Amino acid sequence: MAHAKAERTLVVIKPDGVQRTLVGEIIKRYERMGLKLVGMKMLVPSHDHVEVHYTLDPHWIKNVGEKSIESYKKKGLTPPTDDPIKLGKGVLENLRKYLTSGPVIAMVWQGAHAVQIVRKVTGGTEPLSSDVGTIRGDFVLDSYQMADSDTRAIRNLIHASGSVSEAEKEIPHWFKGEELMNYRLVQEQILYDVNLDGLLE
Ligand code: GDP
Ligand code: MG
Repeated sequence: MAHAKAERTLVVIKPDGVQRTLVGEIIKRYERMGLKLVGMKMLVPSHDHVEVHYTLDPHWIKNVGEKSIESYKKKGLTPPTDDPIKLGKGVLENLRKYLTSGPVIAMVWQGAHAVQIVRKVTGGTEPLSSDVGTIRGDFVLDSYQMADSDTRAIRNLIHASGSVSEAEKEIPHWFKGEELMNYRLVQEQILYDVNLDGLLE
């Protein structure tokens, strides 16, 4: 089995993140935790690219619908529909518009627990309820209710893979093998070596 430090995750700074000039701020959040940047590019994705990205997981449409309905109910609000598939399909259509509206920055970050730790720092899907201190909690203010009533996707600055298996499917969808760098970062010795020897002169 590969060492935990080999785990990789996909992060995409969505068009609103680029427009809000938060690219540097977002990269800093991941970089300062000790993660290693192994791939990065700017592009305007096509509608098809976005649709394939979100349907790499065949359960995504239903899951996203269920997550949204649950969030409405938790706040004592009535969801726009009780059918998770219908809601999920609407979200996908809106995401196609959102993510193709301008350039995005796609990145691959590597390090121990990369998927989970990137999700933790990124924060929950809905900026209204995501934790203070997370990127989505600190830099943007959208909600399920406002986005749904305006028939658009929630603007939350970032896509980050939700699980290791999602990351393994998403990374090759965005990057060719040769676009990902295999290299040693000197700080990895401090993060991962069993013995911190060789520091003292
Ligand atoms: P993520 O993994 O936290 O990005 O969330 P999901 O994979 O569940 O959803 C993908 C993206 O769709 C989110 O980041 C939002 O931009 C958008 N989105 C998700 N759920 C909803 C929803 O119920 N309503 C609206 N309007 N947008 C949503
Ligand atoms: Mg997701």
